[in-house]
Amino acid sequence: MSSSIDERITSIRSSLPASVRLIAVSKQVPAEAIRLAYNAGIRDFGESRIQEAATKQEQLQDLSDITWHLIGHLQSNKAKKALELFEWIHSVDNLKLAQRLNQLAQQLGISPKVCLQVKILPDANKSGWSVPELLADLTELNQCKFLQIQGLMTIPPLGLSETEIYDVFYSTNQLAQEIQLQNWSNLHIQHLSMGMSGDYQLAVKAGATMIRLGTILFGDRNYNK
Ligand SMILES: *Cc1c(COP(=O)(O)O)cnc(C)c1O
Repeated sequence: MSSSIDERITSIRSSLPASVRLIAVSKQVPAEAIRLAYNAGIRDFGESRIQEAATKQEQLQDLSDITWHLIGHLQSNKAKKALELFEWIHSVDNLKLAQRLNQLAQQLGISPKVCLQVKILPDANKSGWSVPELLADLTELNQCKFLQIQGLMTIPPLGLSETEIYDVFYSTNQLAQEIQLQNWSNLHIQHLSMGMSGDYQLAVKAGATMIRLGTILFGDRNYNK
């Protein structure tokens, strides 16, 4: 990519509806590059790993108006640390984890914003609720009063056609609407966290309110580290 982070952000931002929140996925990206994105106007950053996020947040303490989003699978034993580091957790992927976060949020006196990760199609490589599993757990999720359950998050399986990817996003939107119609007291599913570098345009078309972009902003990650 020959253009600068700054130019890429400006160009993508201008192609998005104003209502879509652009989350810059900064996993494996050094703090200096995060700073460049910040200077280009980004205030939402997504990280996958607790320790990596802790290190970078330390280096970026002076940027006090960043909102940090956890987008990677969270192990229960790191739940407390996650709540200390992140305002949003997009990757709540099972009832036990939700209940654990709820209990910790009560103890810490906070009310974190979370998305429930769903798998519209079966995908052995990803965690998350299937649709029937999620519908079955709603009563208990609704009891997690210390969580602000505000959205659904999804990642389509690899290898789908564009139409199939769009269908996954559209079905996620339909599922959110179905849950909203049930009028739960503590489930307010007004956000859809969906769309990555390769498919965000389809996600936006299907109603995404938060897109998570890494590669297209920061360039290829070095997977050999
Ligand atoms: C890495 C990651 C992204 C960003 O992916 P890109 O293809 O680099 O845009 C988005 N969401 C999740 C959950 C990720 O793990």
